[in-house]
Amino acid sequence: MTDVREVLARKRDGDTLTEEEIRAIVLGYARGEVGDEVAAAFLMAAFIRGLGTEETIALTRAMVDSGTTLALEGISRPKVDKHSTGGVADGVTLVFAPLAASLGMAAAKLSGRGLGHTGGTLDKLESIPGLRTDLAPEEMARQVEEVGCAVAAQSKDLVPADGALYALRDATATVPSVPLIAASVMSKKLAVGTDLIVLDVKAGSGAFMKTPEEAAELAAACLGLAKGWGRHCRAAVTDMSQPLGDAIGNALDVAEAVSVLRGEHAGRLAELTLELASRAQEALLGVAEAEARERAGRALSSGEALEAFRRMVEAQGGDPRVTDDPKGVLPRAPVVEPLVAPGAGTVAAIDAEAIGLAAVDLGAGRKSKGDPVDPAVGIVLHAKVGDRLGPNEPIGEVHARDQDAAGAAAERVTSSLTLSEGDIAPPPLVYGWHDAG
Ligand code: URA
Repeated sequence: MTDVREVLARKRDGDTLTEEEIRAIVLGYARGEVGDEVAAAFLMAAFIRGLGTEETIALTRAMVDSGTTLALEGISRPKVDKHSTGGVADGVTLVFAPLAASLGMAAAKLSGRGLGHTGGTLDKLESIPGLRTDLAPEEMARQVEEVGCAVAAQSKDLVPADGALYALRDATATVPSVPLIAASVMSKKLAVGTDLIVLDVKAGSGAFMKTPEEAAELAAACLGLAKGWGRHCRAAVTDMSQPLGDAIGNALDVAEAVSVLRGEHAGRLAELTLELASRAQEALLGVAEAEARERAGRALSSGEALEAFRRMVEAQGGDPRVTDDPKGVLPRAPVVEPLVAPGAGTVAAIDAEAIGLAAVDLGAGRKSKGDPVDPAVGIVLHAKVGDRLGPNEPIGEVHARDQDAAGAAAERVTSSLTLSEGDIAPPPLVYGWHDAG
């Protein structure tokens, strides 16, 4: 490659880079031969100038080629992968993977860590004592065959470039970009040979794409990549204008997922997971919509999905008793402060990003590359748009390391709620579905 500064300057000035130039930066960065300063400048230039279709394909291909791929050829069941573009209280994967396994599919998934104000499935799962997400490719394949589901990290073997760039984007304010998110998400999906990719493309205050239109643009970019690779992909644009579930943290999210898997917790998190599982069954098992929904509901109420979660946790070295006694097994914060309604009225809006950032400040997410996350801290917020609240009504809790942190987070959460008079209709859960392949 020519002097890398010339390449960076061309992208800075809005030119189109060649596949070779993009590969040199991405593969060089994954191998440790290109420094943070070059990769960060590339990301910022790509963020500001955008990437064209060919550049996005080249970036995605370079990320996939930075490691090996996992064909999963020997797996007997139809294989599904699912990915969210990032949200707040988004524990869908924790429920979806074992639910899919209990419905006769095999769920194989490379997940991410918390990014910006959003939570990450890997951070959540790692709050279960002993649980490992650094599965070697053969280990992941074996677990998918034996247990029916595995959720692992990209690693030095699988899409290492995404691991490196993901952490750098988090630290350099270069996350909310359609081509960068599409390449990051799809590189992890294209590296694993599943029969169906289900994408949950989030729209709203807690998402990187703030409107359904922007989210549809991201969905189209992801579907375009799937199509180019000849992969079957279904993408839903879904609501993230408020936290999806009630728990925003790591251990707190796991506890909520367990209660959904036990059939004890209805609401938007359970609803969306059932919707995604139903669409996957339609596509992979040929089950009609109404029956698919009923089967998924039964797998939750019968405990079959919970049993698949228990087996997945155990296979990944985690304490399986988390399914019987989540509070006893998961780490707990020393301070638990009640949250009360800031007044009387109907919840008209919730600033989910502000709540996600309050959770990051408590320690549930990272501010700098490589920061550890605190598995125990976070926020539980039961209020949703459309709920009527009385003055001082209990609406949740803040779990913190100390009283000051709890007080500051409580203040931020209550001021993120907008109350008004009269009835407010909750936003739709799913704005629409888009297909490729
Ligand atoms: N999820 C990912 O895997 N990558 C992103 O860039 C955003 C969400």
